Amino acid sequence: MSHLFYQTSQRRPVLDQARGVYMWDVDGKRYLDGSSGAMVCNIGHSNEHVLYAMRRQMEKSTFGYRLHFETEASEELAAKTAALCPEGMNKVFFVSGGSEAVESAIKLARQHALAVGQANRWKIISRSPSYHGCTLGALAITGYAPLTEHFAPMMREMPKIPAPRAYLDGLDPDDPATGAHYAAMLEAEIIAQGPDTVLAFVVEPVGGASTGALVPPVGYMEAVQDICRRYGVLLILDEVMTGAGRTGRFLALEHWGLSPDIVVLSKGFAAGYVPLGAIVARDDLVRAVMEGGGFLHGFTYAGNPLACAAGAAVIDEIARLGLVRNAEVMGAALRTRLDSLMTRHPIIGDVRGKGLLLAFEFMADRDSKAPLPARLNAHQRLVDITYELGLIVYSRRTRDGVAGDHIMVCPPLIVTEQHLDEITDTLDAALTRLAHDLAPALSE
Ligand code: PMP
Repeated sequence: MSHLFYQTSQRRPVLDQARGVYMWDVDGKRYLDGSSGAMVCNIGHSNEHVLYAMRRQMEKSTFGYRLHFETEASEELAAKTAALCPEGMNKVFFVSGGSEAVESAIKLARQHALAVGQANRWKIISRSPSYHGCTLGALAITGYAPLTEHFAPMMREMPKIPAPRAYLDGLDPDDPATGAHYAAMLEAEIIAQGPDTVLAFVVEPVGGASTGALVPPVGYMEAVQDICRRYGVLLILDEVMTGAGRTGRFLALEHWGLSPDIVVLSKGFAAGYVPLGAIVARDDLVRAVMEGGGFLHGFTYAGNPLACAAGAAVIDEIARLGLVRNAEVMGAALRTRLDSLMTRHPIIGDVRGKGLLLAFEFMADRDSKAPLPARLNAHQRLVDITYELGLIVYSRRTRDGVAGDHIMVCPPLIVTEQHLDEITDTLDAALTRLAHDLAPALSE
């Protein structure tokens, strides 16, 4: 009997070891980690350099409370992180995960508004669908009803605008008018809410698990940045999933040359070696908060030296192994393979993503974009089949959490062509089996 509980009572095999892109259960069965856990293990499992850095730090100290001691590890990681962010963004605040980081960004933004005499500003606009975390503040800006609705009475519901799902709305994502169309929704929402009450806009530059690697239409990100600036609304980029090289840039914001006010990091930032997250903020923003009396926020484990030593070693490994470039090159190669799966499997209605943040979506009909009937639970069935075949992928409902199915294919950034072949061959076999299993239900 297990004493553990998580979201569901579904049980999975017991993990024994993990190395590189592979994981083994206690029965010796091997799995290719085709989703890097939950898009976390960007540098692969059991990287020797990271383990060495952690061991060295452990022998020195494993905990120093941040209000009692500075640590070399946290200073070093903060400096390395700031150096990878746009100019002027050089203040780093550590936490232990993505939700904590999002909460911290929200509270820093609010304290900044107070510090500069804008106490009216408290509303945070985000998109739907989106996922920003499971704590109540992060959930309030998450646009994914199945996760939020039960907690509605306990949260201050925040305004949402539609995510720019051009492919569903029949619009061309390469037409600048499409980007402008969706960005105009942000401006309209700011005006509807009352511009002097809006604190921030929070957005994933490339959508994560809620939208299935949604890439914004041309011009969208630049336009939302302009709108935020025009209305004095802070731009917070949630790069929890897109950061640390995942999209073929260290930060996804580099694709559009953005300079936001706050960037949120976790997942690939410590690549699964330790619980770690961070927010990076503009220097002047933090200065205003400090001059206003300081940041009224902090977690006991924040800036933990072991976590920071691991994080610094992860950044070094991303550079040493050229993983940002590999994500771009292998991402393009995997994209080609997924496109070819789409030509062979009519059930795939869309392939999308950037770098190694890739996904495909099931559809009953490509022309009408109709989803498969939700009762078929096709995404979960595919995951179960690939699992059996020794490949781990990640899936979700794609249409606001209530219908549609997408599968995220996001292996560690260390993948080679050979791994991509293995992923594609397994997916091919799994899709054939799924189509066979679904055939009776689909012909009803
Ligand atoms: N933001 C985004 C974009 C995420 O993908 C996630 C996790 N899936 C979070 C925030 C929350 O991170 P965590 O699960 O580490 O709290």
